[in-house]
Amino acid sequence: MTIANCKRCGRIFNRVSRDICPACVAEEDEAFEKVRAYLKEHRYATIPETSEATDVDLDLIVDMVKSGRLIVRDFPNFAYTCERCGAPIQVGRFCARCTQELSNLLGIAEKGKDSAKARTDKPLSRRHGYYSR
Ligand SMILES: [Zn+2]
Ligand SMILES: [Zn+2]
Repeated sequence: MTIANCKRCGRIFNRVSRDICPACVAEEDEAFEKVRAYLKEHRYATIPETSEATDVDLDLIVDMVKSGRLIVRDFPNFAYTCERCGAPIQVGRFCARCTQELSNLLGIAEKGKDSAKARTDKPLSRRHGYYSR
């Protein structure tokens, strides 16, 4: 058995599969049910509204969606923000555009840039026509 500190409440517990303790798991389950029940009744609810009405922490609600536990595609206003550009999203951490861009960035990391070097043409210095000998 592994002893661990609960990620949420800090209590020490016997870790089985998750990194929060059984008490917190039960709490989250309850919160999840509350949110789901609320959404059933309020199809156009936003996340802050839901958080307020259910007394469930806003971050926890976002976590439920991000982790894929709570599927919200039927709830058009139930969106949070893309971690990169702030666009409203309903699944994962980034919006579709950022996901695309990030994967592009990974792909072209090696691509060298042939940036045209700015020419440094110095004006020819004029000769002074005398030499001292
Ligand atoms: Zn806990
Ligand atoms: Zn984005």
